[in-house]
Amino acid sequence: MKRILVFLATFMCLLWFLAPFVKGQFQEEPKVSETKAENKKKLKAENASSHAHTPVPKQKVTEATIGAVGDILIHDRVYIPARKSNGSYDFNPMFRSVKPYLGKTDITVANQETMIGGKEIGLSSYPSFNSPVEVGDALKANGVDLVTIANNHTLDRGEKAILNALNHWNSIGMPYTGAYQSSEDQRIIRILKRNDITFSFLSYTYGTNGIPVPEGKPHLVNLIDTTRIQKEVKEAEKVSDVVVVSLHFGKEYERLPNDEQKQLAQTTANAGADIIIGHHPHVLQPVSWLTKPNGERAFVAYSLGNFLSGQQGDYKDIGGIMQIGVKKIQTGDDVKIELQNPKFLPTWVNRPYEIIPMKALSDQSDKYNEIQKHMNQFMPELSFDF
Ligand SMILES: [Zn+2]
Repeated sequence: MKRILVFLATFMCLLWFLAPFVKGQFQEEPKVSETKAENKKKLKAENASSHAHTPVPKQKVTEATIGAVGDILIHDRVYIPARKSNGSYDFNPMFRSVKPYLGKTDITVANQETMIGGKEIGLSSYPSFNSPVEVGDALKANGVDLVTIANNHTLDRGEKAILNALNHWNSIGMPYTGAYQSSEDQRIIRILKRNDITFSFLSYTYGTNGIPVPEGKPHLVNLIDTTRIQKEVKEAEKVSDVVVVSLHFGKEYERLPNDEQKQLAQTTANAGADIIIGHHPHVLQPVSWLTKPNGERAFVAYSLGNFLSGQQGDYKDIGGIMQIGVKKIQTGDDVKIELQNPKFLPTWVNRPYEIIPMKALSDQSDKYNEIQKHMNQFMPELSFDF
């Protein structure tokens, strides 16, 4: 009798223990069929609505502006006056007059020609530059949203200067393109989004002043290579609405683009680039429309001159802020991009070092008129009403 009781008790315990599993097994089935039924209902409803009337894809139109400034080339005569008594640097006063204009544009790109390797490795000037990190802080504080850093001076002070600079850009949350910490970093396409429009950014230079790219480290600087640009523009197109390519090219101090620049800009546009920002000549070269194979137009600024540098005379102290509007028209899955309202604000580097809109300088009015004619010679509709 005792044995039977023990057996019964064990059996009951076992049943109680197994109950949730058995229950679960039987409860799962109706759940699945319920889901299937729900799905069927949904499908039915969807079919009914699509049969009832042809769906009209909703059209959504958004707009954003993108701008750029040219070379930021920090000679010793630019960083010495920025030095404070405590040994740090403050470049903010140099941007005081252009800050409101930089802030008018949704995204502003600057070409940081000299690496901001910082004083830790010793600051230096032409021909082998290394600039204070505070240059980066001033760009950030005055409205710059991304820096392009593939330039002929990128390798001036070697890998250490580049890595220091990249660390600083990362620490202040400034995206960069054109030189990278590693091949993994290089593979990440930089993207910024404004008003539901995504912009991607690529940057390349013709060379590095004869300094060889360190063996096995091509990520340290992006060199111009047509096949590579075509491939990377295509990749950027897949992840963005607007592809912006910076090209460090052309001949120094030439005021008009040469055939090589025109060809490369056209090839870049043919690959799918929408906006091409040129620099290196240290003087302004005009802006122009290009036509892409699909009939859409692309915009090129062949050279944006010097935005801040210690160079003087022969148009080398003139630069400017370029701005262009982007309109995104989305109909269903179809996205159309239209470029509109190109603008340019010519700027002058005053001494001791402040960037000033030329229109504010009464003694520069002749030069200001001359620069307007120079910049709009291929694009009469270019506006200077910034
Ligand atoms: Zn250059």
